[in-house]
Amino acid sequence: IHSTALGPALGGTRFYPYESEEEALADVLRLSKGMTYKSAAAGLDLGGGKAVIIGDPHHDKSERLLRAYGRMVDTLQGRYITAEDVGTTTQDMDTIAKETRWVVGNSVAMGGSGDPSPVTARGLYAATRAVAERLWGTTDLSERTFAVQGVGKVGSAYVQLLVEARAKVVIADSFPPALETAKERFGVDTVPLDEIHKVECDIFSPCALGGVLNEETIPELNCKAVVGSANNQLATEKDAERIADRGILYAPDFVVNAGGVINVYDQLNGYSKTRALHLVDSIFDSTKKILKVAEDEGILPVQAAEKVAEQRIEEIGDLRRLRRSGDDRA
Ligand code: NAD
Repeated sequence: IHSTALGPALGGTRFYPYESEEEALADVLRLSKGMTYKSAAAGLDLGGGKAVIIGDPHHDKSERLLRAYGRMVDTLQGRYITAEDVGTTTQDMDTIAKETRWVVGNSVAMGGSGDPSPVTARGLYAATRAVAERLWGTTDLSERTFAVQGVGKVGSAYVQLLVEARAKVVIADSFPPALETAKERFGVDTVPLDEIHKVECDIFSPCALGGVLNEETIPELNCKAVVGSANNQLATEKDAERIADRGILYAPDFVVNAGGVINVYDQLNGYSKTRALHLVDSIFDSTKKILKVAEDEGILPVQAAEKVAEQRIEEIGDLRRLRRSGDDRA
């Protein structure tokens, strides 16, 4: 749990074969802080938290383990709320929900909000339109060119939206079946893995891994902007400056990929898809606001996003010191 200033600390459970407990701890602390900023920048009443389970999800996952984990989450009495992340699925959330009510993103059949990935793609698309408006004075994406790295759950749904908007799309993916499926479904071109970030395009969209914007790749970028769903795209803080120095607009990942957390957040109020999608579409406005703050104050978009998040934590978080009648959260 990194922060409960704005509300319960919500963040997914990552199931990953970390080499050591130290490595797992470093990752979960970094990720939980990221959730605090993501939710605050999205204007949600949520703090930030995350959980990791050390193990190989393909071999070490079992009903018993997930239920034991659910019982652990339950002991936190709602200060931490879990959801899916790398290595966990909607079905895993159903299993965890047998032991605790502090879980969201479980399946629609079990009364949950379901897989957040298509909603994340929708939010990413809204952010893309905001970036287009900033750069080209129009939200129209037809004839714009995109290079999408990773066509998994989010990437493929995003490509679908881009193709529907008549944009030109090039893709790459390390998993041949995902690549072939997307190629056939959307009629888009493919390039080798180590080429995708070099493609001459309007927008490069990392939708696979973190750390893809680094000392080696940034000089090779051939785009006007980077807008993608992957978490922690910048390898280091310095890389935000490196991108700006190349005249490329970087839309902060934690702002543009907030659709998933917005969707699961809505489940806390009794899930309404209409309301959740309405909130997700407001990523258009939050992205515009952050780019404007960056421009007005002469700071990087990442710094502007952190500033907006910190302001909200201070202004609204402070309110919770005033106890409401019957308030059990203060
Ligand atoms: P996913 O596992 O379904 O898709 C990732 C895809 O990237 C896979 O098809 C994989 O084969 C491919 N890939 C892996 N390494 C690659 C490489 N080196 N080059 C090209 N492709 C590669 O995951 P997802 O749910 O689509 O998430 C994608 C990214 O977005 C992740 O970084 C995730 O943390 C982030 N994210 C996802 C959500 C969500 O709602 N699913 C929300 C916020 C952020």
